[in-house]
Amino acid sequence: MEKKKDIVLSGIRPTGFAHLGNYFGAIRNWVRMQDEFDCYYFVADWHSLTTHPDTKELKQSVVRLVAELIGSGLDPEKCVLYIQSDVPEIAELYLLLNTLSYTGELEKTVTFKDKVRQNPNNVNAGLLTYPVLQAADILVHRAVKVPVGKDQEQHIEMTRNFAERFNYRYGNVFPVPYGFNYGGDLTKIMSLDGSGKMSKSENHMNTLYLADDDEMIRKKIMKAKTDSGPTEPNSAKPVYIEGLFTLMTIVSAPDTTKKFETDFNNCMIRYGDMKKQLAEDMVKFITPIREKISELQHDEKYMKNVMQEGATKARTSAKATLQLVRDAMGLKYY
Ligand code: ATP
Ligand code: MG
Repeated sequence: MEKKKDIVLSGIRPTGFAHLGNYFGAIRNWVRMQDEFDCYYFVADWHSLTTHPDTKELKQSVVRLVAELIGSGLDPEKCVLYIQSDVPEIAELYLLLNTLSYTGELEKTVTFKDKVRQNPNNVNAGLLTYPVLQAADILVHRAVKVPVGKDQEQHIEMTRNFAERFNYRYGNVFPVPYGFNYGGDLTKIMSLDGSGKMSKSENHMNTLYLADDDEMIRKKIMKAKTDSGPTEPNSAKPVYIEGLFTLMTIVSAPDTTKKFETDFNNCMIRYGDMKKQLAEDMVKFITPIREKISELQHDEKYMKNVMQEGATKARTSAKATLQLVRDAMGLKYY
């Protein structure tokens, strides 16, 4: 008998254009996992409402993100790709899990405290219960492997707690999930000025988007922060220089990166040349992805079909779980 594959779940918020950080920090692993596991990937529109309440551009962002995910290599034939709000069972599970989570533990969450600091005028209850919704996202498919970045580890830990509490109180329904990646650290892609990470919502001129055209890619890279170069051989690299080397390692030929490494270590590096080379290699890397995304976006029929089929498959899985949940809790009266 064929062994059942582990279930994988991960999501991304439709808060803006997908960028290299999303690609190398998340999507690339998702693509790899779809060949090995039973994967569920979703566009987290409910999650985005906690920090982006304006919905004028939501439709555009959601559909574009679906196209960006497929353009980056997700195959809707190999994985279940869906939109969170198409699966109301997630909201039902979220409500039930809310009764198993304590306000004290939610208030202590690092990401909650960060968001309160960033948005002091919109500390909505959705922000507080974000980890509960995330737990519902995961548990609704009884997923075990959750590929996420370091910033999400605390949320996974909370999901584990909620699952264990549920199982203890009502009977064994949920496997206890864990954060998963393919060993080694996940690549964090720094913004081109080295001030933080590339991001959908912030720092647009220092983030490389999959939608950037060739001229924009060149412009951003040529403007990336550098300095007059090291004065001591084999110096440590400042964050913004390290970031350029990381990008080069990812998109350029190994020999090219090695040449500039050697130049750096010998205090002979010419950042102008390095950036020119990086810009050309980056254009070669992004262009086919951007073109694929654009092609998909123009195929409305295909996009609609993908979203509908994803919703149906995700709901089938979610409904089965909710049936187990209701049975376990005794929410059945006739
Ligand atoms: P926002 O600015 O709206 O929070 P974001 O760019 O941080 O958007 P998320 O939707 O929060 O993107 O995250 C989606 C996935 O991309 C997560 O797994 C996250 O860890 C990863 N990710 C986001 N930015 C980077 C980055 N610069 N480098 C590596 N991984 C990243
Ligand atoms: Mg983020």
